[in-house]
Amino acid sequence: MLNLILFGPPGSGKGTHSLKLVDKYNLVHISTGDIFRSETSNKTELGLKAKSYMDKGALVPDELVIDMLFSVMDRHENAKGFVFDGFPRTLVQADKFDEMLNKKNMPISMVVSLEVSDDELIKRLVKRGIESGRSDDTEEVIKQRLDVYNKQTKPLLDYYKNKKLLQSVYGIGSIEEIFNSICERINGKR
Ligand code: ADP
Repeated sequence: MLNLILFGPPGSGKGTHSLKLVDKYNLVHISTGDIFRSETSNKTELGLKAKSYMDKGALVPDELVIDMLFSVMDRHENAKGFVFDGFPRTLVQADKFDEMLNKKNMPISMVVSLEVSDDELIKRLVKRGIESGRSDDTEEVIKQRLDVYNKQTKPLLDYYKNKKLLQSVYGIGSIEEIFNSICERINGKR
């Protein structure tokens, strides 16, 4: 199995590269943000709860995220592997995730961290907000999301570094260039 975590701040390109990885290695894509957005547009109970946090740039509470993620994974028992995009985002999520993966005997193969400067992130997200109308891509909410990333999510870099799973990739350049560096890391480890 190839189980990848795509890690990085908002706007670092996790979604773009996840889709390309899914295609190339025949994996199942699990984006917690996409799932919450789809639940929100379907006005489910989970979606409405999640929206109240997302609109402020805050994280959805761990328990909601974890339950949702586990049930989505259970629907893909025969998967060749997964790309986790936007999960885990807190130490609690990472610990619970580890516990669950150990039980399933399904180790994480690699954590790919996309490195992009704050200036570039803000530029990309403001542009995405204008083009897509995504409600959390406004300058004020973007700053809040970056702050939340730095405080709550960035510590996971050390967590995965200690587990010798972390691979950092420079995330500025053409999509193809960046994607090739990601694939080199993956192929080098297999
Ligand atoms: P981005 O990486 O650009 O912030 P995402 O689509 O990954 O975009 O996430 C959008 C929002 O969804 C987050 O700001 C957060 O509110 C919520 N969210 C997504 N994944 C998680 C998670 N693992 N834990 C908590 N909240 C999450």
